Amino acid sequence: MKMAGFYDESISNGLGWRAVLFVSGCPHNCPGCQNKMAQSFDYGEEFDKQKIIDKICENSILKGITISGGEPLCKENVKEVMDFIKDVKKVRPNFNVWCYSGYTIEELKNRNDEITNQALKEIDVLVDGRFVQEKKDPTLKFRGSSNQRILDVQKCIQENRIVQVAL
Ligand code: SF4
Repeated sequence: MKMAGFYDESISNGLGWRAVLFVSGCPHNCPGCQNKMAQSFDYGEEFDKQKIIDKICENSILKGITISGGEPLCKENVKEVMDFIKDVKKVRPNFNVWCYSGYTIEELKNRNDEITNQALKEIDVLVDGRFVQEKKDPTLKFRGSSNQRILDVQKCIQENRIVQVAL
């Protein structure tokens, strides 16, 4: 997997101070995508998991990690993203994990794929759905268009319904 970028601290990609990893590669090709270069699986630099974990460990103000892209949960990236989250939690067990995906949670569950299901178990908050230009709204917090939802993933799974995070 390649990565399109990394912020070692940010407050605009989820609640609280967070590290943000942007993975490369996305199959959705949403019109108006703000990160078009990251749609290519060849864009950016080789993802060096240990290097990123070391950077996270250096910063004590961080409360969590956000995985964005690109598409973290496409079939090409999902396993490496899941392994990364698991390894981050080994050194930062209280970290809160946000993930941005162009797939809806329903699409991810309907894959019936063991790796995807395991990855979802590692994620606290999923901002789901493709970016829809006609629904773009700059006043929205943490999302680009109004079709996207900010989901409490564990409640969605346990209660088998859509549970959005109250911000
Ligand atoms: S899902 Fe995100 S990265 Fe992928 S094409 Fe759509 S806006 Fe761009």
